Amino acid sequence: MRHPGLQRVLFDEAAIAARLDEMAAGITAFYDGKPLTVLAILNGSLIFAADLLRRLPIPLRFESLGAASYRGAVSGGTVTFKGGLPPLAGRHALILDDILDTGCTLHAVRRKVLAEGGPLSVRTAVLLRKRKTRIEPFHAEYAGFEIDDEFVVGYGLDYDGRYRNLPVIGVLDPARRGGG
Ligand code: 5GP
Ligand code: MG
Repeated sequence: MRHPGLQRVLFDEAAIAARLDEMAAGITAFYDGKPLTVLAILNGSLIFAADLLRRLPIPLRFESLGAASYRGAVSGGTVTFKGGLPPLAGRHALILDDILDTGCTLHAVRRKVLAEGGPLSVRTAVLLRKRKTRIEPFHAEYAGFEIDDEFVVGYGLDYDGRYRNLPVIGVLDPARRGGG
């Protein structure tokens, strides 16, 4: 199937599903028997979170936090939050985000979760991790796919609010940037 706006597809639905199965197995093994709260960073991780959660057959609570650090295709170092944190005392927190790029967002979220939430532990799962030198070095315990430093969209990832609904992940056609 052709996807308007994509220069090329990196991961199709079958590849994403297979990788989520593997990630979910590791996450399930680690959190089995522990009080877990999954904290999704919205909007980008919406679809990743929905598909991953359904693969975790363990008791858990789901919460979300709005965070933004991006203007169009250029990353900004300032992270803004929408909404507060849920109570995390006595619980293990698993942060979900769509992509680890400069590291600014996850660094800020993790710091906020540790400072304000006081959880028993914090881990992070990202669907995508870019191969690059980060502004804020950040280790994600779970990462779906390593990608080159290109701007990708689909499966929750947007360009100026568009393309989140593509079922695949791909590289945005450069001609679409600034228009389309
Ligand atoms: P960071 O703070 O690590 O630079 O970036 C985190 C956020 O920037 C991600 O949650 C995502 O919303 C956005 N982002 C970074 N790289 C990309 C990309 O290649 N495509 C899209 N659509 N968003 C990106
Ligand atoms: Mg985003």
